Amino acid sequence: MANIPADQAKVLALRAEYPILDQQWGNTKLVYLDNAATTQVPTCVLNRIITHYQTDNANVHRGIHRLSERSTAALEEARSVVASFIGASDPRSIVFTSGATSAINQVARGLESQLGPGQAVVVTALEHHANFVPWQQLCARTGASFIVAPLTEAGDIDREALIRILEENSVALCAFAHVSNVLGTVVPVAELTALAHSYGAKVLVDAAQSIRHEPVDVASVDCDYLVFSGHKMMAPTGIGVLYGKPEALECMEPSVFGGEMVAQVRFEATSFESLPLRLEAGTPNYVGAIALAEACAYLQRIGRSWIGEYERELLYALEEKLGRMGAVTILGDPEQRAGCLSFVVPGVHPFDIAQLLDTLGVAVRSGNQCAQPLLHQVYDVRQVVRVSPAFYNTQEELDQFVGALEKTLAVLSA
Ligand code: PLP
Repeated sequence: MANIPADQAKVLALRAEYPILDQQWGNTKLVYLDNAATTQVPTCVLNRIITHYQTDNANVHRGIHRLSERSTAALEEARSVVASFIGASDPRSIVFTSGATSAINQVARGLESQLGPGQAVVVTALEHHANFVPWQQLCARTGASFIVAPLTEAGDIDREALIRILEENSVALCAFAHVSNVLGTVVPVAELTALAHSYGAKVLVDAAQSIRHEPVDVASVDCDYLVFSGHKMMAPTGIGVLYGKPEALECMEPSVFGGEMVAQVRFEATSFESLPLRLEAGTPNYVGAIALAEACAYLQRIGRSWIGEYERELLYALEEKLGRMGAVTILGDPEQRAGCLSFVVPGVHPFDIAQLLDTLGVAVRSGNQCAQPLLHQVYDVRQVVRVSPAFYNTQEELDQFVGALEKTLAVLSA
């Protein structure tokens, strides 16, 4: 149940960790509502980076000197923290990547030799380009069919249509977003994973948009792969995660080659290390991984269920406030929405809205949100405005946004 005064006190205390949010632009206060693109980094995570560089920094898995050992221990501790954050029992199932995009590409490349004509890869119409294009390209390279599962009118995955696809094709892998980065649809990934598995398909879950505010538990979802990016959950850019069940990671061919992923290198041939190093060629972004683990611990301290509930409250309030503005059309009406919503105003360009909002201190995203198939082929629009609050946003900030939007639309439609 919502406890508004307690929530407000908690949010104000949390904001002290984010000096960036405390900015005044002329007469207006910055309102940052672009958290689906990237979240801000709290002081505790920034301090962890500084501490590592000031006290323990050295390359990992290479030296036997003490700094290298300390740095390696910090990286491996980070792997354990991240594993437990997503309910993975074995830290070796965590591969550090530079983000969700590189993780998905790594899986697509890694499974290439196992795919061919007569097989299919299924994505859904609500995927971000990062979980769409790598599979489309993989199918083009291998001759497998690339199938896009449709949505219902409300913006949920059409389960009946998905079942037909699974019945009629030999599906090797389904790739689902956990939360849409445009509609905010929460996809029932555990249910869809069980369904796909019952037809013998592997499942990759793109948790880029859910990791901060939804329960993400690989043991209960039972997916084969799950990916996410640190910069959408209070960690820095350039670090992300590929989780895989041991057998699902084992069956991937390495696609990036170099130092530390090898066991023996000879003129004639090379053999590879065991997991997870086999999939982490070169010097990993170990400071990023350590910062990501700090962000995991930070989110745990705040309370992940509180984050989910509070952010949902903000989103409902936002939806209600926008719903009262006749000119605004919100895309989709899914069974469950989280993280963000997108809207259009007929006759007004989303860029113009975002630009004028910026002059009034409000940062939102405008554009195609890296989801052209969804916008063009499902909703028949080119661009939208996306608003995505996080747990450090307040109801007052939503009011400031709505007030700014009213002014913006008055100017643009004058
Ligand atoms: N998947 C979804 C649903 C996203 O929203 C994003 C980024 O916005 C990505 C994948 C790609 O994340 P990154 O650019 O951090 O690799």
